[in-house]
Amino acid sequence: MLRQKPVVLVSACLLGIRCRYDQKDALCRDLLAYSSEIHPVPVCPEQLGGLPTPREPADLKGGDGADVLGGRAKLVTRSGKDVTKQFIRGAEETYRIAEITGARIALMKDKSPSCGLATPHCDLPQRGAIGVTASILVSKGIRVIELGVEDKFPTQEFLAIVNP
Ligand code: SF4
Repeated sequence: MLRQKPVVLVSACLLGIRCRYDQKDALCRDLLAYSSEIHPVPVCPEQLGGLPTPREPADLKGGDGADVLGGRAKLVTRSGKDVTKQFIRGAEETYRIAEITGARIALMKDKSPSCGLATPHCDLPQRGAIGVTASILVSKGIRVIELGVEDKFPTQEFLAIVNP
């Protein structure tokens, strides 16, 4: 019998897609090498929200990603443009893709104000705020694991989720 591969949402930049604000990738070599063991569903929330590539980087102002979804905080680019609507749209579209594909796990790029669980790109006094897309996924019960370029994969946390 065929072993079912887990369907996993993945920040596209971690797989080598050049979708970052500076049109570069954030390739995690271990994850790419492991990608045939899963059904990866690459997503870039900022592109899905309608932002161009390259684009100006944006920071969270007034709260974290959960506050953005609750209307209490914003995303503002370095030149002062409000891109909150695009970040929210990208988070919602990413969740729609999770629903359509049945993904219950997400491997998301660390430090991003969209994908990260603890981004430094936030003006909260306590550093390390959840990003907008990570927040919506967590609130819908999707297990989010954040990964950086140099991280080893698969992590113990990931293996424990897919092989409970
Ligand atoms: S971190 Fe997320 S939003 Fe940023 S480029 Fe990667 S996939 Fe896109």
